[in-house]
Amino acid sequence: MIIDYKSGEGIEVSSIGIRDFDIQPYLDYLNIGYAADMNYLSRKDSIMKRESPYLIAGWAKSIIVFKILYKFEKGKVQPPYARFAMYSMLRDYHRILKEYIENFLTEYGLFLNKKMIYVDTGPIMEREIGRVAGLGWIGKNSMLINRRLGSYTFLGEALVDIKLDRNLEITPDMCGKCDLCIRSCPVNAIDNNRKVDSNKCISYHTIESRKVIPMEIGRKMENMVFGCDICNDVCPWNRSKKGLTIFKNRKKEFENLKVEDLVYIDEENFLEKFGDTPIKRAKIQGVRRNAVMAHFNIFNDDRFLERVSRDFQDLGGQQANEILNNLNK
Ligand code: SF4
Ligand code: SF4
Repeated sequence: MIIDYKSGEGIEVSSIGIRDFDIQPYLDYLNIGYAADMNYLSRKDSIMKRESPYLIAGWAKSIIVFKILYKFEKGKVQPPYARFAMYSMLRDYHRILKEYIENFLTEYGLFLNKKMIYVDTGPIMEREIGRVAGLGWIGKNSMLINRRLGSYTFLGEALVDIKLDRNLEITPDMCGKCDLCIRSCPVNAIDNNRKVDSNKCISYHTIESRKVIPMEIGRKMENMVFGCDICNDVCPWNRSKKGLTIFKNRKKEFENLKVEDLVYIDEENFLEKFGDTPIKRAKIQGVRRNAVMAHFNIFNDDRFLERVSRDFQDLGGQQANEILNNLNK
């Protein structure tokens, strides 16, 4: 069956027959320790499912892949205001993209019996599936880059029980001699093999990690308090791309948030501002930790750190202690 998908202004859709995927680059990533403390990534059953999606859904015949642009205009936020990765300033993409995929399937009158939808929610090789489906190439910054949309995009997949045929054209590597992302990463986290070392990456330390941020990383964060878009920002393939597509309702709560106020944010305010955004993943203590580090980068104020250390025992207080200990060395 061939479907003429409507790839819209900010959306690319493709599909491939179910198959095994090449997981060697992923195994290499795990073996050299780039996953840091994300131990769930190396669980044996999860690796097997990544290689063979049949193990997730034995009935599946195809995967429909969605790549959706979310880039919008935002100037560089200057201290003392806090900077957030662009995706985190939108309402949580998991629910919005899943609803979009559900509606897409309904619109095409397909797969009403068996389907399984993933939006960054399970052990499948999202970028590799997108690459094999012709939606882009894996750039040196490890992102799936699409010629038309760039890489400020979300990926989603629907495993379906119908065979879909398409003439797929794999996009060749378009990075060429460019190495802007590698040179621009403030913590040298990107190697020469299209892999990012999470042990160094600011996104990992401000989103995934539940530990204090090491000083050598934290000192490079400037006023970032959730994620880091630098290796996307510098990529020439992201220039002049924008269009909110299905992500129309950007949250205004992110404007003019001072780093200091984030250090002292309370639970009620945290949930009100961030409860329906990806930022809730870091929890209030994660955001406090990041804001403490950013505050020190901006103000170098050790008396503020002493106050935070007295006021909080959570990760925020621990980060303040970590900085103070380093100052006393
Ligand atoms: S997200 Fe930031 S820290 Fe991480 S690899 Fe990209 S530029 Fe480097
Ligand atoms: S910045 Fe250059 S090297 Fe890095 S992903 Fe973009 S095109 Fe490739």
